[in-house]
Amino acid sequence: MAQPPQQPGPSGPAERPAGQRQGTGRRAVLAGAASAVAAGAAGLAAGPAAAAGRPGGPDDGRESRRATAQPPDRELRALLREIDPRRIERTVRTLAAFGTRHTLSAQDDPERGIGAARDWIHERMAAYAEASGGRMTVEVQSWIQEPGERIPRPTRLANVVATLRGTEDPERVHVVSGHYDSRASDVMDAESDAPGADDDASGVAVVLELVRVMARRRPAATLVFAAVAGEEQGLYGAAHLAESLRRDGARVRAMFTDDIVGSSTADDGSRDPYTVRLFAEGVPTAETAEEAELRRKVGGENDSPSRQLARFVRDVAENEATGMRVRTVHRRDRYLRGGDHIPFLERGFPAARFTEPAEDFAHQHQDVRVEDGKQYGDLPEFCDFDYIARVARVNAAALWSLAVAPEAPPGARILTGSLTNDTALEWERPPAGQGPRPVRYEIVRRETSRNEWTHVRDVGDTTRYTVGLSKDNLFFGVRAVGPGGHRSPVAFPVPGEPAT
Ligand SMILES: [Zn+2]
Repeated sequence: MAQPPQQPGPSGPAERPAGQRQGTGRRAVLAGAASAVAAGAAGLAAGPAAAAGRPGGPDDGRESRRATAQPPDRELRALLREIDPRRIERTVRTLAAFGTRHTLSAQDDPERGIGAARDWIHERMAAYAEASGGRMTVEVQSWIQEPGERIPRPTRLANVVATLRGTEDPERVHVVSGHYDSRASDVMDAESDAPGADDDASGVAVVLELVRVMARRRPAATLVFAAVAGEEQGLYGAAHLAESLRRDGARVRAMFTDDIVGSSTADDGSRDPYTVRLFAEGVPTAETAEEAELRRKVGGENDSPSRQLARFVRDVAENEATGMRVRTVHRRDRYLRGGDHIPFLERGFPAARFTEPAEDFAHQHQDVRVEDGKQYGDLPEFCDFDYIARVARVNAAALWSLAVAPEAPPGARILTGSLTNDTALEWERPPAGQGPRPVRYEIVRRETSRNEWTHVRDVGDTTRYTVGLSKDNLFFGVRAVGPGGHRSPVAFPVPGEPAT
């Protein structure tokens, strides 16, 4: 694990290159975190270190000591400890036991079909929400879906959604979802067993467990926990949810879909139980022609809001408290596949997809059967519930860290009114009522050829700052620091004019 090389050029007094933190205590904590992850890897034959060596294993140029990393505070650590693999197992087994949860299956049978699953999820969320003192509300969001390629007739679909209202900035929203519909080999087969344990009872189990542990807590911004339907038929539930948030004027600042997060075992039998993939697009799906033109001129294809979100996830969730490595994948989704983050991306919301490290296609989208002595089908026996719990911790760390931090600085711009060899940045403070109020700001930067931010400069409580390094040679960003020390995601500045 090599330390990133030092950048050339002057360093401000408050600047920390990667791996050289201020204060011995903090540095010791970080070093401890890094070595704990390393120790965990070394202690397991099939851990991250082993996985990195096999063909197709991770080789993403990871910089192990990221300058922007945020170790979990006491409150987050307590929250992560509450996540319970046994409850997750119960959820996966209960959902699988409804036989099929196909979107076109029975809606009024209390024991079999998607209706039974919907009612059970609703009952669990409502029970957990009771602990919130009225701050968490639960609704069944239901509508008639018009016929489409995989919807032969008008069909009632329903999302089950729990919303934990933020105390300081309720219109700022962070969403996590799993889809509770399932499928057999034939995507139109609503009769055969389709236990859908990995795809995607595992994601629903993550969502339900987060509802349970978050219900008693008081984040500054709003968290939305959704079990959606119609994914296998065309991402209908997620599209309905994204559209309703857009219509309500919610400022959706992050959306994560957990889809196929149930197993750490690949089809060749190898295990990688401490890695989760995070698929995050570069060029935004909803990019306008003007934005595309700007990107062609000055770059930024690796700095979309979704990419900043992916970096943020690694900053807050890749540590010994989750026990996980987040392997970011720089594409929207896997080949030939899509997911519930896409309807959010289409509406301009930052979004990304969590998926297990290596899928076993014998255990998804398959009729339950034995062929040549091999068991096919998406059965609970192929799930790893401790693994799902760790994925839930990654989600919890990301969502909680977003919801207690200030928003990324609005209006971030890089001043380009004249030709200079320095970098002048400006940004805005959040409007009143959109807390927490930042107490200071940090400028981050990296070489244009690198993926992770390598330097952080504390610039105090200001909305403009000039760095004595050329904007032509580096990428810059700015992030806000809240009263509790929580950092926002990075805002990537666009060329602009100074405030008058
Ligand atoms: Zn799925």
